[in-house]
Amino acid sequence: MTTIACLLQRAACLDSDSAKLDVELLLAHVLGQSRSYLYTWPGKALAADELEQFEQLLARRRAGEPVAHLLGRQGFWTLDLRVSTDTLIPRPDTELLVETALALCAARSPLRVLDLGTGTGAIALALASERPQWQVTGVDRVAEAVQLAQHNALSCHLGGVRFLHSNWFSALAGERFDLIVSNPPYIALLDPHLAQGDVRFEPMSALVSGADGLDDIRRILVDAGAHLNERGWLLLEHGWQQAAAVRELMQRAGFSQVQSRRDLAGHERITLGQWAHQQEALAC
Ligand code: GLN
Repeated sequence: MTTIACLLQRAACLDSDSAKLDVELLLAHVLGQSRSYLYTWPGKALAADELEQFEQLLARRRAGEPVAHLLGRQGFWTLDLRVSTDTLIPRPDTELLVETALALCAARSPLRVLDLGTGTGAIALALASERPQWQVTGVDRVAEAVQLAQHNALSCHLGGVRFLHSNWFSALAGERFDLIVSNPPYIALLDPHLAQGDVRFEPMSALVSGADGLDDIRRILVDAGAHLNERGWLLLEHGWQQAAAVRELMQRAGFSQVQSRRDLAGHERITLGQWAHQQEALAC
């Protein structure tokens, strides 16, 4: 008889920073229960099919597959999102982008908000869940990601969020926003981290951006001003060593009040700037 308590010990065979949590999540998933159930009923025996399913998932985890892919789900902010191999898995680091956007635009006005490279829809949906009065759009150049984000919008009861198939601003001609957020690809092509951990199972197109990791950020900055309202904000996530370079690029692109914010690990993880060009405002 193989009990829950006995299977929880299997964490020891995983070479993962989060081995205990990984095993708990896989076991709870197989049983269709919460993690607390595992500690309430440690003596419960698994049925043969449950055991087989658990062993298969554990073997895939040992081979490095991300837990989010094995479960098909990932929590982000207060939301439970479907994930797939077509997009980046939402990271806790990115919640800083959501927090900063909410703090920056606390007013209850009906702002127009854009999430560039939305993937699962994580950032767009988190913002919409906190600010129902905002008009939120998420775009992605990967058609499967747009479908995934639309699915997540419905399952999170946030059907008002608009998701479009667009290569950065390509489908947004003539549209302006009060707030643009993005977690673009920002890893350098030859970064050794690409050969480690979860990123090995995520699409390169969502991770890598040229020799220095900044190609997509440069590309976004070329067009961002033309899509921002006067005093609108741009918030970009980037690598922990890229903040100074991103601040310089933003300043050169004409943004003011350029500043970076640190994540919980103390790394400068996002940079923001305000578009304050009177002439642009007069032109619209
Ligand atoms: N934060 C991710 C990582 O370093 C990368 C995400 C991205 O490129 N946008 O694993």
